[in-house]
Amino acid sequence: MKTLENLTRLYINKCQDYVKYRMVSDICKTKDFGMMARYFKNFAKQELTHAKIISDLINKIRGENDSIVVEISLKNINTDDVKTIITNEIERENANGRNKYKMYAKIAEDEGEKEVAKYLELLSSAEQNHSLMLETLLLRLNNNDGVCDCGVCGLRLSKKDKTCPLCSSKKEF
Ligand SMILES: [Zn+2]
Repeated sequence: MKTLENLTRLYINKCQDYVKYRMVSDICKTKDFGMMARYFKNFAKQELTHAKIISDLINKIRGENDSIVVEISLKNINTDDVKTIITNEIERENANGRNKYKMYAKIAEDEGEKEVAKYLELLSSAEQNHSLMLETLLLRLNNNDGVCDCGVCGLRLSKKDKTCPLCSSKKEF
């Protein structure tokens, strides 16, 4: 069944995404992009949630003795430039959301796996949503004129603020 292979591929992709977003979060931290680091940590958590859902779907439809072998491409990070990383991820999340998940959903539907098809449609929306959130982060990096909101208390900080005058937190992007 193609659906079992597709879910396996997605599961491995999600595991890679989880590790990758945790790594991006660490990169952001080294560059004082604290807010960005928290966003990526949260994206990682969401990818982990997706992986769990997909793992459950696999367990529901796989036979006891099914051995599943799939080919998968490596998706590691090869730069520490946050803008480049985000730009690449926007493209990938968007393409996943628009094409891959929808294609897999159609195949699941054709193979009679209605529940899987339903979840794949929802995952497709979540991926497209990730891509939109990443676009917002990229915009924030590109328009970095020194003005930003304090990540701790929400106060708008000016260019000259090094720390937040309200809660004393370090200013971070
Ligand atoms: Zn503050």
